[in-house]
Amino acid sequence: MDDDWICGRFGEDEPWTLGAVNPPVFDNSVFTFGSAVELGEAIRNEDERYVYWRGTNPTVDLLQRKLAALERAERAKCFGSGMGAISATISSLVSAGDHVLVLGAVYGPTTQFLRYLEKFGVTHDHAVDLDACDSAIRPNTRLLYFESPSYMRYEIFDLAVVTGWARERGLVTVMDNTWSTPIFQKPLTLGVDLVVHSLSKYAGGHSDVVGGVVAGPSRLIRPLALTEYQLYGAAMSPHDAAKVIKGLRTLPVRMAAHQERGLAVAGFLAGHPAVRRVNHPGLPSHPGHDIALGQMSGFSSLFSFELATESRDEVSTFLDGLRHFRIGVSWGGFESLVNAPALTTEESVRATMGIPVGLVRLSVGLEPADTLIKDLGGALDGIG
Ligand code: PLP
Repeated sequence: MDDDWICGRFGEDEPWTLGAVNPPVFDNSVFTFGSAVELGEAIRNEDERYVYWRGTNPTVDLLQRKLAALERAERAKCFGSGMGAISATISSLVSAGDHVLVLGAVYGPTTQFLRYLEKFGVTHDHAVDLDACDSAIRPNTRLLYFESPSYMRYEIFDLAVVTGWARERGLVTVMDNTWSTPIFQKPLTLGVDLVVHSLSKYAGGHSDVVGGVVAGPSRLIRPLALTEYQLYGAAMSPHDAAKVIKGLRTLPVRMAAHQERGLAVAGFLAGHPAVRRVNHPGLPSHPGHDIALGQMSGFSSLFSFELATESRDEVSTFLDGLRHFRIGVSWGGFESLVNAPALTTEESVRATMGIPVGLVRLSVGLEPADTLIKDLGGALDGIG
């Protein structure tokens, strides 16, 4: 949205910044008080008051307020990683005996975390669409968790329809919005209850920070900030918050550049004979393209394509044939990266997500699209 650029300025002209062009980093772990009564009062409200770094820190708090403004949320809580945010959020919403529905493919460790919760009596089921959700829902289902676009496959779910379905059945919805960033999609405005992000991707933007956030209404954020944030201890450091604060300043500009390069590369791959299919919701040929246009204002540059092969060796040869793309996990930084789940993901997780052997994931960085296209063309010729 046009006014998102101000989040680079949001909160930075408050008196405590003393006019500094970059907000100061509060590098202290402890805050003191004039009396024991004041300290006690602050501890009871440690989600908002500065007592100890593991609770709230002014630099982290500034980032939280910026992210809440971007997501149009009442409040946001930052964590030491995306998984810190995801595990704390899910934990805060379920109790022993509850059931979680997972719609579509989600980040592998999120599924692993749900499996881990089984030892505490929390069960889950995966469903490919709302019809499957209708079959899988149980009287004890409490939460619907999903990503849109979905993980690795980049399927689009209609957020208004999904949240309407969940609301009618009394479920809380949690959506991972890392792919789009709040620049291109604001799920809370479309009925989602809580949004989680890894800030380690586009938000940070320079592959130099790991962080996470959950954003939503105070009634859901406050309990998890006072309990799971404090007890799991996945606190964000003020130095990491300062890096993400800088990342947010350029986020709208970077996302526009990522979008342009990502679409150019996806278009090239879609026309190549060695490619079976390209999973990029910004391509008009993508089955969810029209829905995406209705709920997103742009497309990031993480997508996958399927090599016309069932051979892991051939996928490996393709990756090794790339000269410019670097082989590695993660995404959303300056540098273009490539990864292939058949070579790197636990087999059972790959199968659960329905990911074909020939699927290759690209994170298109900020290098010129021509350079990237030439690199991919050369590696495709190498397996042709
Ligand atoms: N969500 C998605 C979609 C991700 O791709 C990742 C990490 O790759 C995460 C969450 C977890 O984030 P983090 O690595 O910051 O814990």
